[in-house]
Amino acid sequence: MRKLLIAGNWKMNKGIKETEKFLKELKDEIEEEIFEKIDIAVFPPFTSLYVASILLKNSKIYLGAQNVFYEKEGAYTGEISPKMLKEIGIKYVIVGHSERRKIIGENDEMIAKKLKAAIEEEIVPILCVGETIEEREKNIHKKIVEKQIQEGLKFLKEEDEFIIAYEPVWAIGTGKTATPEIAGEMQGFIRERIKEIFGKEKGEKTRILYGGSINSKNIEELISHPEIDGGLVGGASLKKEEFLSIIKNSIRSLK
Ligand code: PEP
Repeated sequence: MRKLLIAGNWKMNKGIKETEKFLKELKDEIEEEIFEKIDIAVFPPFTSLYVASILLKNSKIYLGAQNVFYEKEGAYTGEISPKMLKEIGIKYVIVGHSERRKIIGENDEMIAKKLKAAIEEEIVPILCVGETIEEREKNIHKKIVEKQIQEGLKFLKEEDEFIIAYEPVWAIGTGKTATPEIAGEMQGFIRERIKEIFGKEKGEKTRILYGGSINSKNIEELISHPEIDGGLVGGASLKKEEFLSIIKNSIRSLK
């Protein structure tokens, strides 16, 4: 019922030349029938988005942005609006990634506004949530994630399309992947919160991805868990062969 999504978050990697090379090869090497089974998206940095949008114009690979601002236009030096992203065909935008929460200081209020602004331009936001290791050790991880969900989604309505990515901070870029049980338990908890906010049907159809040190070896097991509807992949999405293997191995979990 929920179509899998494999999303490659390139973070602050790959300029224009590398983007061109990667996407040309990826397009050539992905078999058409794969798109019937899963959605695939890449999230290059801002300076590579335009060239990526041209390269992916007639392709079924979706293009996403790693961030967006919540105002439409004006005196906001350094920011990019949802309208600007829409103009180059952006389908998804990552909002509230833990690196932005921690390094840039984004808070739940800003994140909530970004989600709403993206939806107004028909861009599907991917809201990232997740606890630190200290929060898990103190056994407050569910409380933390519950707050991120409630605050982040507070301006949305049932008909608005959004995706959640559960990304435990201790698993991002560390090589310490959550087990399917740990991720699945939290993702089931998140789905229940969505049902409480927007109703059962919305909870059932909302895609919840897992992110945190995914690679081609662990993806199949993770995605086999019924609560995990795909992956937000960081480091491992930068190497084309590895990204292709992640895509192929995630399809194996569907059989
Ligand atoms: C991410 O940045 O969203 C992520 C999950 O990174 P990594 O796969 O490198 O842990």
